[in-house]
Amino acid sequence: MRKYDLLPYLKGNGNGQMYALQYNIAGRSGTQTIQTQVDGRLFYHVKDGQWERFYWDDEYIYRHADTSEAADRYYVQTKNGVPGCDWVRRHMHVGDEYHATPFVKHYWKATGHLRAEAQCSNILRLIAHHNKYTFESGITLSEVVELAWIVNGMPEEYYYYALGFGLVAWKQARHGWESYICEEISGRPDLEREIVEWLPDHPPLLYHKPSIVSTPGLMQVVSAALNVRTGPGTTHKQVWKLRQGTIIYAGAIEKVAIGNIWAGWGSGLWCAVKHKGTTYLRRVSDAEAELVPEKPFKLLRPKGYVTQLFAKNPDKYARFGLPGHEGLDFGTPVGTIVRALHDGVVYRVHLKDDNAYGIHVRTIHTFPNGKRYKIIRAHLRSVRVSVGDPVVRGQPLGEIGLTGNTTGPHDHVTVKEVGATAAGLTNFPGDQIDPALWIDL
Ligand SMILES: [Zn+2]
Repeated sequence: MRKYDLLPYLKGNGNGQMYALQYNIAGRSGTQTIQTQVDGRLFYHVKDGQWERFYWDDEYIYRHADTSEAADRYYVQTKNGVPGCDWVRRHMHVGDEYHATPFVKHYWKATGHLRAEAQCSNILRLIAHHNKYTFESGITLSEVVELAWIVNGMPEEYYYYALGFGLVAWKQARHGWESYICEEISGRPDLEREIVEWLPDHPPLLYHKPSIVSTPGLMQVVSAALNVRTGPGTTHKQVWKLRQGTIIYAGAIEKVAIGNIWAGWGSGLWCAVKHKGTTYLRRVSDAEAELVPEKPFKLLRPKGYVTQLFAKNPDKYARFGLPGHEGLDFGTPVGTIVRALHDGVVYRVHLKDDNAYGIHVRTIHTFPNGKRYKIIRAHLRSVRVSVGDPVVRGQPLGEIGLTGNTTGPHDHVTVKEVGATAAGLTNFPGDQIDPALWIDL
């Protein structure tokens, strides 16, 4: 069953289509000129000059203020003390309902004084989607959704929204049609929205907390390209195009302000992109976002179980001029094959048992981060490679022995990031860093 995105029905297509509604409310009848105006992520249903303000994010359509309650009154919906309240879920199947719980504050237009306030409860149901619908006036529109306000399980009022228009009809369950489209109007200037000085142009609004990325981090673009825009939705200005495979920092940003327009919850996926040394925070359009978490790079895990962590036992290692254990030990029987942890090249082989490492092999590698690392495998009984040999991940380098400074058979792994000591990245004197950065313990 199809799920409908209600947003294009409610907010029109942004071209300001104007139309007239025939109304007949409480014995008064006449026509009203209607226009749906879009302003960023806000949109307005303007009825002559009076208006209702809505806004949206990926999950919900929200209501904020309504100046059409009466000539002298307006109301504002709030939730948790913040202006605006989620009014309906954007994506619904026919039959789905949404239960909104706005706190509504009613004010006098002349003074901005509060006249009433109440906690409300409001259920909307998507009743139907019509490919074509003919209204009382004889006007037929295509793509119309029918929503109902549900009271005690029954529809109380029906609202009709047409694609490219907005609200085109309204009907009471008991009294029939209250208003319906009677004329499509073109070529007129935009309707002026009445100014209620107590209502700000761009109030701080409450947005749905983002849920797309639950664990922000490094992500990789998997689609052919990823468009990065200044704001939510594909209508916003494109400022970047990221190539497939690009790794970006992407996250769900909770509080955002772009310029002075948006403040509040910014929904969806944001990414930090670097351009000429400056990091910019930009929104990834959901429709275009196709990202997968970057798989963290790991070295092949040596056999055995961890017997001594990096930097442990400083007392024992002081005599070697080290702040602690300069590697990671894996206990494993004599004769266990020691395998290359990553593709690289052998740069040193020591075949005599005359130092702390005993018989050992040293290799050099370039990790995916582009940096160069040296790896030492110590306490061997034999070696199967020679200086200058290229090695591939998993290739046997030698066998575990009991040579050098060791109390039992183990695979000692030292990882050195070339230049780390000079750069102040480690307090070890010989570029040694914690191998657990790259090895699962
Ligand atoms: Zn060790």
